Amino acid sequence: EPKLKGVRKKSVVEFSKVDADLLPTVILVGRPNVGKSALFNRFIRRREALVYNTPDDHVTRDIREGIAKLGDLRFRVLDSAGLETAASSGSILDRTAGMTGYVLARSQFAIFMIDVRDGLQPLDLDVGKWLRRHASGITTILVMNKSESLDDHGGFLTAAAGEAYKLGYGDPIAISAETGLGMADLYESVRPLLEEYMLRVLNDKASQDNSASEVEESKIPLQLAIVGRPNVGKSTMLNALLQQDRVLVGPEAGLTRDSVRAEFQYQGRTVYLVDTAGWLQRSKQEKGPASLSVMQSRKSLMRAHVIALVLDADEIAKARCSMNHAEVVIARRAVEEGRGLVVIVNKMDLLRGKHNSKLYEKVIKAVPEEIQTVIPQITGIPVVFVSALEGKGRIAIMRQVMETYDKWCLRLSTARLNRWLRKVMSRHSWKDQAAQPKIKYFTQVKARPPTFVAFISGKTQLLDTDIRFLTKSLKEDFDMGGIPIRIMQRAIP
Ligand code: GDP
Ligand code: GDP
Repeated sequence: EPKLKGVRKKSVVEFSKVDADLLPTVILVGRPNVGKSALFNRFIRRREALVYNTPDDHVTRDIREGIAKLGDLRFRVLDSAGLETAASSGSILDRTAGMTGYVLARSQFAIFMIDVRDGLQPLDLDVGKWLRRHASGITTILVMNKSESLDDHGGFLTAAAGEAYKLGYGDPIAISAETGLGMADLYESVRPLLEEYMLRVLNDKASQDNSASEVEESKIPLQLAIVGRPNVGKSTMLNALLQQDRVLVGPEAGLTRDSVRAEFQYQGRTVYLVDTAGWLQRSKQEKGPASLSVMQSRKSLMRAHVIALVLDADEIAKARCSMNHAEVVIARRAVEEGRGLVVIVNKMDLLRGKHNSKLYEKVIKAVPEEIQTVIPQITGIPVVFVSALEGKGRIAIMRQVMETYDKWCLRLSTARLNRWLRKVMSRHSWKDQAAQPKIKYFTQVKARPPTFVAFISGKTQLLDTDIRFLTKSLKEDFDMGGIPIRIMQRAIP
């Protein structure tokens, strides 16, 4: 195993045992001379690279492909360097256009390289734009190569990182393809991404194989997003969860505050905090009555498994409703996207004391009721009342979050479900007894969130009321309250 200095933990996936054709694919992109080939060579070491031509072009364009090693991670790496030299004229967009169809379709991740010595060049901006246009589904990691050539005493690296941040691909990771500097940082940044991808692929494969799931799904590290308006106490809560002060600030912040890097252990399980860099940055700049437009985009919500929506108890006590429009939108969206939702009411300390006891009661009663009104399709969305400032609530929050996550990962065997189905159907009052649909069998097709298919014989169909009944019964009988579950139906002859 090639040891990476500075890396303490190994991946939960044994990449070295995964079939090569299941591995994630990472493409190296960047303008000429940023060091793509150098990084490619570092990744594949002395192993053999496959060189082939893109099939969809008049010019011959070489692409190198190899299996990369980065610590215990393995991935397929594509070097696009040949693409630029093949065509001598036109903008980089034209020159790389031929790549879109073939190469991008094969990649799930991109490493976007810039040269720290040159600073940000117009061509870098072009590459950034091009990626946004053609590779929106691809997760991109920005790296500043040749970082060994600048020493950071003068703050050059930090300044370069600040400039590179403007590309819109998050905080760059400083590396040197030539000396190997920063490879541990790169490892820490890509590990959660590749892990998550790999576990999903293995699970899909396992369920396709129709064998028992190869990976115990709740062992997949939880990706938790903490969302909320500015000033509700997200940063304070983050520090309480990480149990360290100001873990995300400091002189090296520009280089290390990558969102995927915030992680902590809770009862022996790893939890990743998703997108914290994004909201920390923005909330610090835009404190004030900003709405949730400064918060999570749909895309970043989708990266989370569980979303913790933080509300401010003091505001609720003053306001007519518990959630403003933007908060309602986020809560609904989380559930519609099939994520687990936990609502955290922070700053409860402000409502303590004698003359506040009415307000205290009011908040405790009002929030769950209002959530139920806003999201009627799910009963029992967990609500936790805490004071992050007093450092209380870590356990209360994490207990609810993990419980939600475990329910979200739950898998029920087909045998168990069908025993359950026979019992529960005898309780159901069908709308039309005569045309009562016959559920031949009922099976869970996936977890995260739990998704079920009812196979119906004949021409009949389950009505919405039937689906609601099944959903409700499932939730009650298998303790799946508070999370979104999905039931679909398929006709079988
Ligand atoms: P590509 O066109 O993006 O594939 O870039 P290359 O990998 O061919 O590198 C371009 C030039 O930069 C070569 O002269 C490399 O030796 C040099 N280079 C690549 N990586 C580094 C690095 O980390 N540090 C320094 N100082 N030079 C590098
Ligand atoms: P963010 O913008 O959501 O990250 O919020 P911060 O964590 O920066 O907190 C905003 C303000 O609320 C700060 O002045 C915090 O000290 C304060 N705050 C955070 N949590 C609590 C709490 O539980 N009780 C009280 N009284 N104040 C809090």
